[in-house]
Amino acid sequence: MSGKYTLIGYPLGHSMSPLIHERLFDLSGREASYDLTEIAPEELAEKARSLREFKGFNITIPHKQSIIPFLDEIGESAARYRSVNCVVNDGGRLIGYNTDCDGFCRSVEDYPMDGKVLLVGCGGVGRMMAIEAARSGADLTIGIIPCDKERAAALTQEILDMKPDARIRTVLTADLDESFDVILNASPVGMYPRTDACPVSDALIEKCSYVFDVIYNPVETLLMKKARALGKTARGGAAMLVLQAVKAHELWDGDLYTEEQIDEIIRATEQEVMKQSGGGQK
Ligand code: NAD
Repeated sequence: MSGKYTLIGYPLGHSMSPLIHERLFDLSGREASYDLTEIAPEELAEKARSLREFKGFNITIPHKQSIIPFLDEIGESAARYRSVNCVVNDGGRLIGYNTDCDGFCRSVEDYPMDGKVLLVGCGGVGRMMAIEAARSGADLTIGIIPCDKERAAALTQEILDMKPDARIRTVLTADLDESFDVILNASPVGMYPRTDACPVSDALIEKCSYVFDVIYNPVETLLMKKARALGKTARGGAAMLVLQAVKAHELWDGDLYTEEQIDEIIRATEQEVMKQSGGGQK
């Protein structure tokens, strides 16, 4: 089987995936190609068979759930989220995994995730982060805006069904005035082009010790900037993007990478993001 890999999604636009995966293949000395395959939602059934020519592939919006019926098996992580972003072709059998959760967990592996954690936002990526935080034993507060009340209630129930002893509550972010060990942003607040926005008050940032912002454009969000200026530890979404890809290579080929190699790819990804958005200032 050839060393062909791809990303499927629609539309794909300026994806960081080829840059990240090509660097990972180079580091492991593999002859492999990684390209982009746009598949419109109505074409997935017809094109699913042709995906078997790849040794592995990634999946992004809108196919993360709809790909599942075309796979032979799904791993535990993908079953947990009913969402697949990475497929391994294991001798003709397509096995689906979720490596977004690995990327998130590794991004915050040195954070006190069993402490008081505030998660802002409970959409697609926020749901995964809430579930992983609860699995880490967090005393979890989900900070929401009023339109997300029902979504947050459903997520809370989902977590309690999975982990009946989970400590979890939902609060309007605007009403919060207490201290947290960790603040996680899973909302788009602060994302390019509205980079002058911050999802939490200065008072909350002052009282926390660790910040993780899932946004990767800009590379340093206003939330991260404020936290770092106060001497807090802050990490951005490029780390998660690279670390989910690192996990894919482990699943596809058993390849492992050093911290230095991973940090170098995170920096290269951040530079590319800045280049694509005109210096990262817009
Ligand atoms: P989404 O639209 O599914 O969810 C965002 C949620 O945030 C929504 O529920 C929205 O109502 C809520 N929200 C908006 N403003 C808020 C506020 N002020 N306070 C609290 N909640 C608020 O989006 P998503 O797919 O979950 O993506 C969210 C962000 O994560 C995007 O910026 C996306 O680019 C980024 N992302 C990064 C990675 C990565 O690997 N780093 C992966 C996926 C998504």
